[in-house]
Amino acid sequence: MSLASGKEQAMRDLHARLHKCRLCLEAGYDIYPRAIFSGSSEARIMSIGQAPGITEKEAGRPFNAGSGTRLFQWLAEAGIDEDWYRSTQYMSSVTKCYPGRSSSGSGDRVPSRAEKQLCRQYLDEEIALVDPQLILLIGRLAINLYFPSGLSLAKLIGTHKQVDGRWLVPLPHPSGASRWHQIAANRLLLDQAIGLVREHVKQIFPDL
Ligand code: SF4
Repeated sequence: MSLASGKEQAMRDLHARLHKCRLCLEAGYDIYPRAIFSGSSEARIMSIGQAPGITEKEAGRPFNAGSGTRLFQWLAEAGIDEDWYRSTQYMSSVTKCYPGRSSSGSGDRVPSRAEKQLCRQYLDEEIALVDPQLILLIGRLAINLYFPSGLSLAKLIGTHKQVDGRWLVPLPHPSGASRWHQIAANRLLLDQAIGLVREHVKQIFPDL
């Protein structure tokens, strides 16, 4: 078996395990199983969101509704076409099943530390198999995987860093429920982040 087909088979195995996974339910968390992700081991860019929402769960694809519309508006400014990105690059999240509504009723429940730990093995496998050159960290939970949680978004958005030979670019969560990206003063930082994505994408795909 060639290296490429070995990777593809390993990715198919991983996706099959993800589809069957009920670890959070078995641990007593009130999640809605149907792990949401997309992409193949051939991707060069990986995006990591927080957790799917209800529309992502129902449609079976990441960043499906309003969040996706806004995210792909930002990525379009970085030279990324949504259809191309969805069909060729990898989309994952910190936890992959819809966590339900928050008990306060406003927005979706934030996955607990235990759920993040349960799902981390899959994310680590995805990153190892895809071996992306660029990772887009979308929202605080994803950003916290690689950047100090004590730093404010204002200190993180518009920066990037290299870890294990790959570039990491933090982006704010594009949800309409998130206020950060709606504050005019933060638009300059968002523009800087989009500029960084554009530079990295040009390096990886010079002909795009
Ligand atoms: S969130 Fe992750 S670990 Fe939890 S049940 Fe879904 S796939 Fe499994």
